[in-house]
Amino acid sequence: MEFGRFGGQFVPEKILVAVKKVEKAYEEAMQDPMFMQTYREYLKDYVGRPSLLYEAKRLTETLGGARIFLKREDLNHTGAHKINNVLGQALLAKRMGIRKLIAETGAGQHGVATATVAALLNMDCEIHMGAVDVEKQSLNVYRMRMLGAKVVVVEEGLKTLKEAVDSALITWANDLENTFYLIGSAVGPHPYPTMVREFQKVIGEEIKAQLQEKEQRLPDYVVACVGGGSNAIGAFYDFIQNPSVKLIGVEAAGDGIDTKRHAATMTKGQTGIIHGMQTKVLLDPDGSISEVYSISAGLDYPGVGPEHSYLESINRVQYVAINDQEAVDAFIKLTQTEGIIPAIESGHAVAYALKLAPSLPKENILVINLSGRGDKDVKQVARFLSETLID
Ligand SMILES: *Cc1c(COP(=O)(O)O)cnc(C)c1O
Repeated sequence: MEFGRFGGQFVPEKILVAVKKVEKAYEEAMQDPMFMQTYREYLKDYVGRPSLLYEAKRLTETLGGARIFLKREDLNHTGAHKINNVLGQALLAKRMGIRKLIAETGAGQHGVATATVAALLNMDCEIHMGAVDVEKQSLNVYRMRMLGAKVVVVEEGLKTLKEAVDSALITWANDLENTFYLIGSAVGPHPYPTMVREFQKVIGEEIKAQLQEKEQRLPDYVVACVGGGSNAIGAFYDFIQNPSVKLIGVEAAGDGIDTKRHAATMTKGQTGIIHGMQTKVLLDPDGSISEVYSISAGLDYPGVGPEHSYLESINRVQYVAINDQEAVDAFIKLTQTEGIIPAIESGHAVAYALKLAPSLPKENILVINLSGRGDKDVKQVARFLSETLID
């Protein structure tokens, strides 16, 4: 397996054929300097990279400990880190001679990023989405349709993300020649977790170079939120061989890790198989995959990328959990001290940094990967706050 005892290709025979085809094409593409050059040009001229590394001086002052820097993935085109990966995979599909992208989406963020890149590269795009999610995220559904994507509304089962994945996989299996399955996080069968990391590792490479230029040193801490784990592995990867840099992944504790409503896979999960990979998974006592919950749609996933399971097993990365209330408090705190509204997913990383920074020496440097912007979350945070005020 790719990552110690984690990773693998646990998929039915028919899908395995397609996965092997992606694996071969990916390996060839990575050897092709033209491919990487095209990818880097799009990152620069379309996404707007390098994203800024900003010292949050007011936030630092109010906390009175380590200096806090924000890696501004929220400033990317479409407002999050997801575009780095979507662009890479779409270019790979094109290189394979495939013109149609399919993807599933829960809250719609991955769907919107995929539809965006499909428009850019003149590709067809089909997004599978559970009917319940379609209802909740109507604005994102309009967005995807406006970008030219077909949104397939999935009516099976609980009508959410899991059923959308199944539906997208069936569509893929039925037309392997002409479709490319574009996965939105560092999850799924090999080569996806590796490939997504390679398309996201630019985040950590930029942090390292930017901090070197500003401060001539490495950071002491890099903190990132973990859903499937793509922004976190992207921020961490270049620092893995620098043992002085402490890496912290922050997952969603929802209502609390001692309730049933959370998505803290690292803290509460066990080794199992989900979406074609062996990794840590949240399981019910009967062995079925748990239903998970978080205020943030991007973090409520019952599995996690296999490389994170591995990095935890060798004690290289520490994983912690932050609950809804803490994430909302951090969302407000960052908004009011720096004038930067973070995605509620990123709010989890900010929340942990708020706990950690005051206990650290003033010379320490802590980098928070701000995975996305929070415009999409304003309504939900307002609702959460008024509820707690009524309580
Ligand atoms: C999707 C998303 C996440 C979670 O996905 P990862 O693969 O764990 O990075 C985090 N932040 C934002 C802003 C997202 O859109």
